[in-house]
Amino acid sequence: MRNINKVDVLLVGAGVMSATLGTLLAQLDPSLKILMVERLNKVAHESSHGLNNAGTGHAGYCELNYTPQQADGSVVIDKALQINAAFEESLQFWSYLVEQHQLPTPEYFINPIFHQSLVWGDDVAFLRSRYEQLSKHHLFEEMEYSEDPAVLRVWMPLVMDNRDAKQKVAATQVKHGSDVDFGHLTRSLVKSLHDKGNFELRLNHGIVGMKQMPNGRWRVRVKNNHDDKVRSVNAGFVFLGAGGGALPLLQQSKIDEANGYGGFPISGQWLICNNPEIVKRHKTKVYGKAPVGAPPMSVPHLDARIIDGQACLLFGPFASITGKFLKEGSMFDIVGSLKSGNLKPMLAVAKDNLDLMRYLIGEAFATHKQRVTALRNFYPEAREEDWVLASAGQRVQIIKQCDNKGGKLEFGTEIVTAQDGTIATLLGASPGASTSVQAMIEVLQRCYPARMASAEWHAKLKQMIPSYGVSLDEDVELLRQVRNRTLSTLKLV
Ligand SMILES: Cc1cc2nc3c(=O)[nH]c(=O)nc-3n(C[C@H](O)[C@H](O)[C@H](O)COP(=O)(O)OP(=O)(O)OC[C@H]3O[C@@H](n4cnc5c(N)ncnc54)[C@H](O)[C@@H]3O)c2cc1C
Repeated sequence: MRNINKVDVLLVGAGVMSATLGTLLAQLDPSLKILMVERLNKVAHESSHGLNNAGTGHAGYCELNYTPQQADGSVVIDKALQINAAFEESLQFWSYLVEQHQLPTPEYFINPIFHQSLVWGDDVAFLRSRYEQLSKHHLFEEMEYSEDPAVLRVWMPLVMDNRDAKQKVAATQVKHGSDVDFGHLTRSLVKSLHDKGNFELRLNHGIVGMKQMPNGRWRVRVKNNHDDKVRSVNAGFVFLGAGGGALPLLQQSKIDEANGYGGFPISGQWLICNNPEIVKRHKTKVYGKAPVGAPPMSVPHLDARIIDGQACLLFGPFASITGKFLKEGSMFDIVGSLKSGNLKPMLAVAKDNLDLMRYLIGEAFATHKQRVTALRNFYPEAREEDWVLASAGQRVQIIKQCDNKGGKLEFGTEIVTAQDGTIATLLGASPGASTSVQAMIEVLQRCYPARMASAEWHAKLKQMIPSYGVSLDEDVELLRQVRNRTLSTLKLV
């Protein structure tokens, strides 16, 4: 397909969400004409880029924010179960694509890594209780727990070396965790779409306006950043997969469902280890507990990573205050997103989250020394000269209208679709890329309900994702079958 301006599907943004949705649609109906437009000159250069996210295959194994502790000390595990089952859908889809040679051999985009959680002091009781509840469930039955420093020294030597012997520590570990290079995955999905035909990618093309036509189709104005010319694309279905930039585009669409949404951007930074000898000594992902007052996504973790085939070691993310919705965006993004419909919720959130604002401002002004001090909770021997600061991606948290308080800040993701199913977007960031397959299936269910209910699409979905339509949370036998397949196809054991 070359330079056709009337398409069935317009994917805005070349991140993991658009790439996943495009791949699902091309599998379900290869005759669909799909156009992807991206404002930057590269695919996966914002949040989906390998270094802009933590690459954790979020399965709830190590992320303590998915199992909140209640006032009575009990731990709620529902969200961890849900995320684990959602990630299994991604693993099944990627396995299918690897088997069909539509994704490269897995080590290019996904690698096995132990997922560990580490706590100390009063949090030991929390981790023990979390382990007791999770390990009873079949999704988490392989989880291990220890408070024994000798065992922990084997699990995470860098973390235990020279640690205060009097400090009470505990950890859990799951051996079949994963590290995903979402940048490589996205580029591979886009390449595969390109190879199949009926797909065109236009880089350096940004959306500058859109309007729904009387026949229900969308006329989308796309600007070529090379010659500044604006051309119209006529699309039957539009997915605003613009990551942090999705909110302004949703507002431009003027659909009723956009009303009341606002965005609260939080930027991230990593400490990256520049000493190869230290990189070699740490082989796992170690997640801790977020400091009091910190947003849930700034849970600190020490991560062995493989990005573009290179082993590296990252610590963070350090959150900070920003006005930008995209890493390559403008400090005025937040101001531009203020509309009469979301002003009240935005102001209510600013008023009710002063602790968070204080935390973010404090983080923004932290010195290198202070950041390395935070790192020493995980790696007591860390030296300032072995670490450099690098910026990660932006996350735009959802602000929503709510009756009682005027507005609330949410840390999850939400799919917003027009009632007629002709336009959709995904707001928010977490659990993000890991659950992209389940999220994009939800977009299809909302926007293509008749075709999703057809025997043809149902059969194809079952072929690609055998657990489609069944709860892995409840079906032990099916979980064992799909996990055996995905762990072996994706070489995660
Ligand atoms: C610090 C950090 C750590 C994270 N860690 C993890 C993790 O460990 N595991 C995990 O699963 N997820 C993680 N995430 C979340 C994950 O990175 C995101 O959920 C995911 O990458 C979002 O993909 P996307 O396709 O929606 O957005 P993006 O990858 O940001 O893609 C959006 C694209 O749209 C383009 N665009 C924007 N506006 C326009 C326009 N007007 N016209 C054309 N194109 C446009 C942008 O340039 C961009 O290329 C993390 C995120 C951050 C920031």
